[in-house]
Amino acid sequence: MSDISPKINSERLKRLFDSINKFGLNVETGGYNRIGFSDADLSVRKWFTEQMKGDGLAVHSDAAGNLFGRLGDADKPCVMAGSHLDTVPEGGAFDGALGVAVALECARSIKDAGIEPTVPLVVVATSEEEGRFGGMLGSQTISGQLPAGWVEAATDAEGVKLTEAMTVQGYAPEALEEAAWNKDSIRAFLELHIEQGPVLESENLSVGIVEGISGVLVLGVNLKGEANHSGTTPMHLRADAFTGLATIGAAIPGVIDRLGGEQSRITIGKVDIKPNFPHTIPGEADFTIIIRDTSADIMANLRKAIETVVETVAERNHLSFTIKERSYLPPQELNENIREAFVAEAKKRTLSYTVMPSGAGHDAQTMQAFCPSGLIFVPSRNGISHAPQEWTEWADIENGAQLMLDMIVRLITKKD
Ligand SMILES: [Zn+2]
Repeated sequence: MSDISPKINSERLKRLFDSINKFGLNVETGGYNRIGFSDADLSVRKWFTEQMKGDGLAVHSDAAGNLFGRLGDADKPCVMAGSHLDTVPEGGAFDGALGVAVALECARSIKDAGIEPTVPLVVVATSEEEGRFGGMLGSQTISGQLPAGWVEAATDAEGVKLTEAMTVQGYAPEALEEAAWNKDSIRAFLELHIEQGPVLESENLSVGIVEGISGVLVLGVNLKGEANHSGTTPMHLRADAFTGLATIGAAIPGVIDRLGGEQSRITIGKVDIKPNFPHTIPGEADFTIIIRDTSADIMANLRKAIETVVETVAERNHLSFTIKERSYLPPQELNENIREAFVAEAKKRTLSYTVMPSGAGHDAQTMQAFCPSGLIFVPSRNGISHAPQEWTEWADIENGAQLMLDMIVRLITKKD
């Protein structure tokens, strides 16, 4: 019962959060660099393991680098709470790290209050959530959702293979598959995360309770034309891969207008032009197109439309093309009972909240395909994320952390 729920220790939470962010900080830019399987990522994991051990949790890690700290019975199905410790390059302090810190603070508060969980609590710090290799390796490993052949084929934007990045750091990619948890071993997965968008701040709300998460489809497109002298080749005789790329980019708003909804997003975020020299017509363009929406049908329609655009533009510009699916995470509606329980707990604390979709992908979406899952948001100043300017007011963090604690206590003190 949350009526007897303890209060979070705000200062202890802040110390923990700040300590996590001593890892991977670039002092020149203020950006955080704990990229999946980097040295900083491994260091923070080692440190966090010791923290959880110090709290008396039963700690173990798996082949993907996920860390688990268990409070309560070793054999019983658990409630799992947490988020990820990795960051994007030059990311912010709050993305992922906050949710991990809050989960461990909840475990500490529960211990301090002398609550004996009838359902064990497992604090989790997932690995490689930010998709350096295209998926969400950590939560996909826990939930046994690694597509066949994907691990062997996955590479990052620089062409580094996932298997290589893992092996270099002492992990065994071949052990990923057997690291999956048993189907009924997790009763619920809970995550607190920053919103990474402007809605909560603009509506002056404390908490967002997420109902559904956008899917993410990553396409890799290659356009091939002909590199040639930029002075001697007449405009109508060119096969200019950059012109193709630019035309495809310019067509995106039209595709969204025609077939998209409020949650539709299409982004060209990574581009590689060859030979990338000022006086040469680009002969080749390699780029990613990322399609997101909360509806699988809309995503499929957007994909079809984008593929048609690529084909038409390539033909018109005398280019050959390939389109490859690099990864696909389907959109996911989160568990209704957990959502309603979050709403009930928010009301008890008289927090201002809204029920909202998430445009960004999160571990909770992967986990929902495996066990009932819930996700709550705290506000992001100016909606900024994946940048050093990322910021959440501490008062908002306290509210979100307290709501998470109330929810965890509700679930781990269940009698059935
Ligand atoms: Zn995140």
